[in-house]
Amino acid sequence: MEEIISSNFIHDFITEDLKEGKVDHVQTRFPPEPNGYLHIGHCKALCIDFGTAEKFGGKCNLRMDDTNPAKEDTEFVDAIKEDIHWLGFDWDRFCYGSDYFDQTYEYAVELIKKGLAYVCELSPEEVKANRGDLKTPATSPYRDRPIEESLDLFERMKNGEFPEGSMTLRAKIDLASGNFNLRDPALYRIKFAHHHRTGDKWCIYPMYDFAHPIQDALEGVTHSLCSLEFEAHRPLYDWVINNVSVPSRPRQIEFARLGIDHTVLSKRKLRKLVEEHLVSGWDDPRMPTLCGLRRRGYTPASIRNFCDRIGVAKVNSTVEYGFLEHCLREDLNTTARRVMAVLHPVKLVLTNYPAGQSEVFTVENNPERPEDGSREVTFSSNLWIEADDFMEEPIPKYNRLYPGNEVRLKGAYIVKCTGCKKDEQGNVVEVYAECDLDSRGGNAPDGRKVRGTIHWVDENTAVEGEVRLYANLFTDPAPDAADKDFLQCMNPESLEVLTGCKLEASLAATQPQDRFQFMRLGYFCADSVDSRPDHLVFNRAVTLKDSFGKGKGKK
Ligand code: ATP
Ligand code: MG
Repeated sequence: MEEIISSNFIHDFITEDLKEGKVDHVQTRFPPEPNGYLHIGHCKALCIDFGTAEKFGGKCNLRMDDTNPAKEDTEFVDAIKEDIHWLGFDWDRFCYGSDYFDQTYEYAVELIKKGLAYVCELSPEEVKANRGDLKTPATSPYRDRPIEESLDLFERMKNGEFPEGSMTLRAKIDLASGNFNLRDPALYRIKFAHHHRTGDKWCIYPMYDFAHPIQDALEGVTHSLCSLEFEAHRPLYDWVINNVSVPSRPRQIEFARLGIDHTVLSKRKLRKLVEEHLVSGWDDPRMPTLCGLRRRGYTPASIRNFCDRIGVAKVNSTVEYGFLEHCLREDLNTTARRVMAVLHPVKLVLTNYPAGQSEVFTVENNPERPEDGSREVTFSSNLWIEADDFMEEPIPKYNRLYPGNEVRLKGAYIVKCTGCKKDEQGNVVEVYAECDLDSRGGNAPDGRKVRGTIHWVDENTAVEGEVRLYANLFTDPAPDAADKDFLQCMNPESLEVLTGCKLEASLAATQPQDRFQFMRLGYFCADSVDSRPDHLVFNRAVTLKDSFGKGKGKK
């Protein structure tokens, strides 16, 4: 699998910075907020952060963005680390945004002393009412208060002397700016909240726009890569870097967010699905989280390849879910062992095959990769086949089993259907056929043509298993759209559970996360949570049929 991320405009900028001597190495960071599990959108961002560092022989830090005090959640911190390692990336430094609270406070004091920040006593509602519009500047009656007064008030804010919402520290930039982010944005606010790392030490917390550039600069980040919604905040990022005495000057570069059809990519919405028990958890195989995709059967290579091939652009766009599936199919096609499994079993009895006799076929694990070896599959007169591989009265063009027709049992023999037995309700319970005993291996001795080939499992050695089939969690192609209630867009049939499936004997030794191609059916992965030797459970990772790009030109 291609490991090197192809070139893009971010790499072009960095190459330029290196050439012009603005930097002599590359340092990036990935700053997730530990309030949920990583989803495929975060994955795009982290592939860019870690992948860019990798490409330039640089380093990438993992920084938990806990600037905003939230309740302790080591569950999320641990999961984020696990997901990043699973993808095959490793960080240089691991840190928390809150590690820099002391320095951030000192930089705020520095700004006040320079006359570049002031304590404003407008309430949040008053700030809003006074923010002006494109023609009218914002106003604050506190803007020109003496430096000494702001210093005193800011210290007393820190000491807990004032209630929440009563005052903020604001940057003194430009109340008339066309970019509202520069209209004297708040740098600090009062919040009497317990912080999971700093405890009750602070009752004032820095705003993200102030804290983030400082954190980047203190870590020596050279290129701060972030999604497009921060573009309008870049002038503020640069203002902070230019006006406080930080030790380095990181450059912010924005890229488009990833959207995928038929899914939502927002932690808030994903959490809602979990909390309302609409899915089994963050790792439900239908979830677009990395742990969900992993449990479903996705490989690190398929996800990294996806993130690489969707590219890095400056315009937000939506990628087809089918393309993610396409990348998985491509990977599993070369790596997954081929096995036979029957999901909707009906019995096939070979009436002329000696009862009680059994023989063994040696089959390759993957015909495309002989190095994957082979295994033995048993065969006898009683087999399981898919119910829909038999039709008593065939529809046009049907060339599987029907009375009088010949099919090939994959890798074994050619058989000719002679009839079936039905129960009182008219359901087919057994299918009968005669075996051409001279066709061992599946080739007719006289070279006659046999059009259909079906898979089968020997009843004598079959193991039973549960198989879970998944469809899109959302029927609506754009459940994430602002004007939609995503909970109303859900697919009531996104999960189908099949029990009593018949699996070839080799699957008895399956380990959690083992991936297979069930011949003619799709790629399946042993469930990492529920599958046990005495109760095998497989998730359908992806079907065999590739619908991606059909009729839309080749991708
Ligand atoms: P969410 O809305 O899902 O909570 P977030 O941006 O608040 O996302 P963070 O934990 O702050 O979540 O994200 C960490 C990084 O991942 C940020 O740099 C953010 O820009 C990036 N990111 C999040 N979602 C996407 C996405 N859909 N596409 C690309 N990057 C994303
Ligand atoms: Mg965020």
